[in-house]
Amino acid sequence: MKKYDGYVALALEKGVDDALIVDTAKVFTAPWVRMKCKFGCAGYGKRLCCPPHTPDHMETRAVLDSYKQALLCHKHWKKDYKVVGGFNDTIVDLETAVFLDGYYKALGLGSGPCSLCKTCDTSGTCRNPERARPAMEACGIDVFQTARAHDLPIRVVRSHGEDRNIYGIVLIE
Ligand code: SF4
Repeated sequence: MKKYDGYVALALEKGVDDALIVDTAKVFTAPWVRMKCKFGCAGYGKRLCCPPHTPDHMETRAVLDSYKQALLCHKHWKKDYKVVGGFNDTIVDLETAVFLDGYYKALGLGSGPCSLCKTCDTSGTCRNPERARPAMEACGIDVFQTARAHDLPIRVVRSHGEDRNIYGIVLIE
């Protein structure tokens, strides 16, 4: 059994469809990612876990480079926003499990805008700092390239009603 296999098993137990240990060098960042948030997303600036409140791709690259390995998780999203909230909760639970095992740098990033509160006062501080985490894409991670580099499914969806694939990651050490 490899060092972090227990976290893969735990993630699968918690309902993700795929979980694998990846090198952080193969978690890709790009300058265009947050531009897609800024121009094209109605949620831009409305949540503290969304840009411009989140780190840009350069800061995120530096953060990723301060780790060697991470747990990458995938879930098939079936037209139900509760799936996203549940998935992001799972990422925070996994981060907590990793942290409590002594990996003190453990840090989770989820998918999509934070939905923990009905409204988000972006002039203040987060009301749920223990559970709120930004999405991978909100930090400038190219989720498409990262998923494809690991042979995981992802594709452009053509309408809001289509099923899609969501991703989260827990940086370990
Ligand atoms: S937990 Fe609430 S306050 Fe914090 S980012 Fe999410 S919506 Fe905003």
